[in-house]
Amino acid sequence: MTDLDPEILHKLIQAAFEGTFCLIYPNKADVTGRDQAYAPYSHFRVGAALLTRDGMMINGCNVENASYVGGAICAERTAVVKGVSSGHRDFVACVVASDVPSPSISPCGICRQVLREFLPLSAPIYMISSTYPYNSPTLPSYLGKDNVEERQMIVKMTLEELLPMSFGPDQLPQSG
Ligand SMILES: [Zn+2]
Repeated sequence: MTDLDPEILHKLIQAAFEGTFCLIYPNKADVTGRDQAYAPYSHFRVGAALLTRDGMMINGCNVENASYVGGAICAERTAVVKGVSSGHRDFVACVVASDVPSPSISPCGICRQVLREFLPLSAPIYMISSTYPYNSPTLPSYLGKDNVEERQMIVKMTLEELLPMSFGPDQLPQSG
């Protein structure tokens, strides 16, 4: 797993929480971090942010539906769909944030499979505590240090650790 530069990671976390640094959609009204979540039923706000290989950040929030099951979409898949539908398919990292302090939120099974489609198995997935100081103008001193303090705020796993022995596009013949 290649760790992100702490400054980039902090911006990606901010994108997951509130969308301020979503570079692909610089107009804040167009971005969807956790603070934009549509969660009138569960009141469980989630935000996700993807980093592309060329340094763009694309975020998303959960969007619930009155049908509960069929129509709701998670933040991770919102971000993936936004990215792919904007011409981006090469993602190298993902951040997930919510209102959960600890243990941090983690992607559901469906989202893990969708991430598997577009991220390498070695890609880091960062799961962030709601207590992370994402709106701080300065980086937390523990960021990138892999110490106890950082691990209380950020759970970091590769996609392969989250989805072992997975089935992915590389196991199918390529078409078109
Ligand atoms: Zn999900």
